[in-house]
Amino acid sequence: IKSSPFLDAGAAASIGSLAILHLKRDQLIPLILKSTADDGYAEGAVTNTRFGSFPHSTLKDVPWGTQVRASKVDTGSRGRGKGAKRKLDDTEAPKEAIQAGTGFVHLLPPTPESWTISLPHRTQVVYTPDASYILQRLQVRPGQTIIEAGAGSGSFTHASARAVFNGYPSQSSSEPSLKKRRYGRVCSFEYHEPRAIGLRDEVRAHGLDDLVRVTHRDVYADGFLLNEEDPKNKSPKADAIFLDLPAPWMALKNLTRQRLPARTARIVANSASADAADIASESETPTEESIEPFISPLNPNVPVHLCTFSPCIEQVTATVAALRRLGWTEIQMVEVMQKRIDVRRERVGLHEEGLRGVNATAATVDEAVNRLREVEGRFKEWHETLKEADEAAEANGQPKPRPSTTKDHPASHFESKASRLERIKKEAEERKTFKEGRLVHRTEPDIKTHTSYLVFAVLPREWNEEQEEKLRKKWGTEG
Ligand code: SAM
Repeated sequence: IKSSPFLDAGAAASIGSLAILHLKRDQLIPLILKSTADDGYAEGAVTNTRFGSFPHSTLKDVPWGTQVRASKVDTGSRGRGKGAKRKLDDTEAPKEAIQAGTGFVHLLPPTPESWTISLPHRTQVVYTPDASYILQRLQVRPGQTIIEAGAGSGSFTHASARAVFNGYPSQSSSEPSLKKRRYGRVCSFEYHEPRAIGLRDEVRAHGLDDLVRVTHRDVYADGFLLNEEDPKNKSPKADAIFLDLPAPWMALKNLTRQRLPARTARIVANSASADAADIASESETPTEESIEPFISPLNPNVPVHLCTFSPCIEQVTATVAALRRLGWTEIQMVEVMQKRIDVRRERVGLHEEGLRGVNATAATVDEAVNRLREVEGRFKEWHETLKEADEAAEANGQPKPRPSTTKDHPASHFESKASRLERIKKEAEERKTFKEGRLVHRTEPDIKTHTSYLVFAVLPREWNEEQEEKLRKKWGTEG
C-alpha cells in the first residue's frame, strides 16, 4: 500500500504533495506544492487568493495548521511569455491586494472532509454529514470492501478509502497472519468515461490507487464484477454497497447472491413503472441456461449492508419495492437534516457606545482602538450573515429566519433606541458582558438541509441445508 496524504499526512507540507489552503469557513483551495518556477514568478510557484499571494516556498516544510502570511510577489514577471497577461480566476486577488501582501491563510493537511469542500466538481457530491452517517450505518470497518456507484466527483470515494484503510504492511510481513490480512478496498464504478478517467488520475495523484479501483462501467447493464484475468479476482466480495445513481433499483438485480430468474430481474428493473405488476402476473418463460457459472459480487460470509442516495421520494418507493422482492431486510429510510448553528459572542453595546464603551475595559489607547476594530469587524460580519440568510430565505419564498429570542438579537428590530441604550448602560456596569459578549445563536435557513433520502437495507448472509448440517454435526445439537 502506497503512502497517501489522506491516510498519513506527516507533520508538515512537502513538495509534490497535496495541501489545503484554508481561507475562511467553507473556502478552501487545494494545491500541489511545487518546487520550481513554472508560472513566471520570480519566487517560483505562487498561489494567488483573495487574501494575497502565497509562494509555495513559504508553505513547504511548514507544520500543518500554521497560519501563513501573504507575501509581496513580483507581479511584473507575471505570465508565461513576454507581455503575456494571465487571467485571474475568482479565487484570486486583484493586483493591488497581491502587491500589498496583506492577509493570511491556514495550511491544512488534506482530509476527506476538506477535499469534499474543495474538490473540482464534476457532479453533485455527497457531503460530510451524509457520508459520515452512511459509512457508520453501513458498518464499514478497516479491511472491508465497499462497492460504490456512480463514483461521480469522488467525494464519497475518499471518505470510503479512509474508512477501509487497514494500515500499511510491515516490512517483515512473513508471518502467515499478516499475509492473510485484508487491506481494504473501494470498488468504484462510473459510466461517464471522462469522469471515470478523471477520478482514476486523481486517486493515483493522491496515493490511493492501491485502495481504490475505478472501473468505467454501466452498472445497470453490466453489473459489478471486476472482469480481471484472474477468475478468482472477478468478484469484489463486497461487505457494503453505496449507490448514488438515478435509478438504484436497476442496479439491484446485479447485487444478488444467486442468479435471478429472468422474470424477477425484469420486475425489479421495472420497479418504478406500472409494468412491474404486469410482468409479475406473467408466467415464467423458460430461458436457455447460461453456461457461465454465476459469480456474486457480494461477500458470501457476512450480511451485506446497502445504502442508496436519492433526492426524490419516487426513487425511494421504487428502490424499496425492488429491495423487498430481492429479500433484503431491515429496510429503512432516513433523511439527514443537518443544521449548522452559528453561535457567537455579540458585543453590540461597544459599537453603539463607540470608543467610550471600549475604554471601559481597555488599559491603553492602542488596546481600546484594537478592540473597537475587532468589535466592529464582528458586528459587520454578523450583519452580513443575517443578510445572506435573509436573502436565501427570500429567494426560496421562506419567512426570514430570526434569532432564537428577540431579546437576544444584537440589534433588535423590536427594541426602541432609548431602551437599547438603557440596557447597554446596565450591561456596561456589569462589565462582564463587554469582556465576553452575550451568547447569541441562529440556524441556517431550512431549505439548505435537504440533500437526499437515504435507504438502508441488509442482505442476510448465505446459508443452506448443507451448512446447517455441517454445523449440527460440529456442535452435536438439533437446530
Ligand atoms: N457520489 C458521488 C460523489 O460523492 O462525488 C457523486 C455521484 S453523481 C451524483 C452520480 C454519478 O452516477 C454520475 O457521475 C453518473 O455518471 C453516474 N451514473 C449514472 N448512471 C450510472 C450507471 N448506470 N452506471 C455507472 N454510473 C452511473
